[in-house]
Amino acid sequence: MSDNEINRHFKTAVLNSHAYHVPDSTGLIKLDAMENPYQLTDDFKQQWQSELVNAELNRYPDADMSSMRETIKQSFSVSADCGLIFGNGSDELIQIVLMAINRGSVMSPAPSFVMYQHLATLLEHEFIAVPLTDDFSLDLPELLEKIETIQPSIIFLAWPNNPTGVAYKKSDIEQIIKKSTGLVIVDEAYHAFANETMLNDIKHYPNLLVMRTLSKLGLAGLRLGFLVGQTDIIEQLEKVRMPYNVGTLNQLSVSFICRHIEVLTTQTEKIKQDRAVLFQQLSEMDAIHPIPSATNFILFKVSGLSADHVHQQLIENKILIKNLSKAHPSLTDCLRVTVGTEEENTMFINALKLIFNHA
Ligand code: PMP
Repeated sequence: MSDNEINRHFKTAVLNSHAYHVPDSTGLIKLDAMENPYQLTDDFKQQWQSELVNAELNRYPDADMSSMRETIKQSFSVSADCGLIFGNGSDELIQIVLMAINRGSVMSPAPSFVMYQHLATLLEHEFIAVPLTDDFSLDLPELLEKIETIQPSIIFLAWPNNPTGVAYKKSDIEQIIKKSTGLVIVDEAYHAFANETMLNDIKHYPNLLVMRTLSKLGLAGLRLGFLVGQTDIIEQLEKVRMPYNVGTLNQLSVSFICRHIEVLTTQTEKIKQDRAVLFQQLSEMDAIHPIPSATNFILFKVSGLSADHVHQQLIENKILIKNLSKAHPSLTDCLRVTVGTEEENTMFINALKLIFNHA
């Protein structure tokens, strides 16, 4: 098809955007995507598989997701009087919300999770990015002023934030919710590695929605996200969700694994301990400036060598991390490493030392 014809068929927002790029990680130690590095034990896998063998795959999935819903409510202490909607990953929930709300302004601090801007733009909302301060905290006065003048339909707050790893002050988030006449989504994707939640505050704030994902907890391959809010809001969002967006095998798997949630929380506790070790090791290197993290990754700035060079050299050493140096002006020279196993973290640190010593 000619360029002209392509241009005629597609929305300008689609023509101007890029597909989400996932780099080839074949043969590399994968520390780029905030995944949990641990496998489930063979014994546990066998028990899980025995739950799946009798699944009736000739039938559509349970549309109410009743069994999984109950397990999730219990495992994550979701209050009985809250509404709960499931997505094929929390990415899909962001899309559902942005499809459901009136066309208007969508606001988020920047830099933050790329999907807020990507999906808002594709769905033809105006996206307003409010820069973080130099230490990647919220610029609260600026945010409150922008909220008052623009009155965005929706605000996304990743808490803790990706790609910085910073957990904003809860009192700042509450001020934003109180100031906002639109919806506020607090995206707690990294809650397993942080200390606080807004889940128990939903009853106080009708415009608050709290989003979680099982991806960072250790089930990225399953694709399950959930959004909790007051029931009248969730009822509207349900009209936009595709009827069978979570398949039978996924529902059964989530129900089984979440009934044994301690298997995953033991792993996340270990990741938190290893994050402290990794942070310390990065801090001890003169050319590396890590940002304290409440997530399962660490953002760091390099000096002396370019981030592009360090990223490429790490690949030569069979280690894949994320190069963010061109993602946002405040991320110049920045790279992001996911906390891996002890062995992977050591290999990463050793490779990094080698790269800087040879410079
Ligand atoms: N929110 C944040 C802040 C994220 O960093 C990510 C993934 N990197 C997501 C949501 C999406 O997670 P998923 O679609 O895997 O549930």
